[in-house]
Amino acid sequence: MRLIYEESVAGRRGVALPASDVPVSESLPEELLRVVPAELPQLSELDLVRHFTNLSRRNFSVDTHFYPLGSCTMKYNPRVLEDAALLFEAFHPMTALLPGGEELCQGSLGLLYDLGQLLADITGMDEVCTQPLAGAQGEMTGIMLIAAYHRARGKRKRYVLVPDSSHGTNPASAAMAGYEIITVASGTQGDMDMELFRQAMNDQVAAVMMTCPNTLGLFNPRIREICDIAHSHDALMYYDGANLNAILGRVRPGDIGFDVVHVNLHKTFATPHGGGGPGAGPLGVRQALIPFLPLPRVRMDEHGRLCLETESELSIGRCANFFGNFGVLARAYAYITMLGRQGLMRVSEAAVLNANYIKERLKGHYELPHDLPCMHECVFSASRQLAQGVHAIDIAKYLIDRGFHPPTVYFPLNVREAIMIEPTETESRATLDGFIDAMIEASGLAESNPRVLLDAPLTMPVSRLDETKAARELKVCW
Ligand SMILES: *Cc1c(COP(=O)(O)O)cnc(C)c1O
Repeated sequence: MRLIYEESVAGRRGVALPASDVPVSESLPEELLRVVPAELPQLSELDLVRHFTNLSRRNFSVDTHFYPLGSCTMKYNPRVLEDAALLFEAFHPMTALLPGGEELCQGSLGLLYDLGQLLADITGMDEVCTQPLAGAQGEMTGIMLIAAYHRARGKRKRYVLVPDSSHGTNPASAAMAGYEIITVASGTQGDMDMELFRQAMNDQVAAVMMTCPNTLGLFNPRIREICDIAHSHDALMYYDGANLNAILGRVRPGDIGFDVVHVNLHKTFATPHGGGGPGAGPLGVRQALIPFLPLPRVRMDEHGRLCLETESELSIGRCANFFGNFGVLARAYAYITMLGRQGLMRVSEAAVLNANYIKERLKGHYELPHDLPCMHECVFSASRQLAQGVHAIDIAKYLIDRGFHPPTVYFPLNVREAIMIEPTETESRATLDGFIDAMIEASGLAESNPRVLLDAPLTMPVSRLDETKAARELKVCW
């Protein structure tokens, strides 16, 4: 593949600009004037279209490949939702904040209000703030609310407790909000060790952050007991609902005993993501925390008219510009209303069924650290293949050659050589079988011809990269 500058041919043009009718300025200082023309690639429109189309075909995406990236939920996003997002194009985010502006955007405010109600119903919370722009921002906002809640009751607590299987953003968000972190190790069943948890709990703990099902894809059967223990120490329970796919329409964190929940709309409610694109991490809370929620809050007055509450004594303030990522919120609203209660239940049913199908078919070929019914994802270990010198990363790279995006590897951290597979609910059995066959082949190759795995991928423009360096020191020029 050639770079766009290499395709350049002097004199070729893809656009024809009209002659400038702006008078040349006399007042610009000489040293600011460009003397040598900018060195831009010169291409025809067709050259350009081919260049970028071919470049995009080098990519893996949900639209082109099966993408079982555990914890990140790369599921198919129905195209009709893009239309829903576009309906709100004309809504300028400043409108509602201008005098008399609320009248002009009752529809948009209505969407925010209704989405908040739907998410409150889905999570079992009393009110939902749709502002946070990502899961991690939802977490940090939630922990700041928890801190404000304790402070308002005259308490300054020191710690936030997380299990060792937690997503890295959990301890990071709590630390950013000013807390010290206590990490609790997992027991043999993959759940937080109850004895260690009891020992770690004390009255200085402000909150316990949990993901349930956890990042091993396991639902903690003692989650109610954990909430009770935390509450007995006046700690609040935080539910990391980045991925609700396993429990949609079946379990509500609020009914279990959680006090604060964030949800990633870009993992559960149909916004395409990856590559750091826009997301949304709405935050739900129980009644006692509502006064601390970020502003502005969308309220409905007694005439059914929507308005904005812009001042409140106890609010922690704003957490995002305007109203969050509105297009992401519009897609989620359309997705939830399109599927309805029954549809959402079928999502969780198929997500869990697909993960268990993969787990059962692969467990004879890969070490399964926790052989229990899983939820929306299952976690294997490549420890058996390690005996042949093959690591999880080698299997992941081989899958690229076979036309599959690799699953998440080396996470969660508490499983050695982890391979974390989340098939999502939108894949057919034929696709799952194709992936499973490739995984079985990889385990066979680890025995018979490990070189193929160690050298993979062979079908890509580049083979093995220093992925950390590639992300941190991105070279956008050649
Ligand atoms: C993705 C994820 C997060 C973080 O969400 P971002 O939107 O990437 O900030 C937090 N917790 C879990 C369990 C996740 O999977």
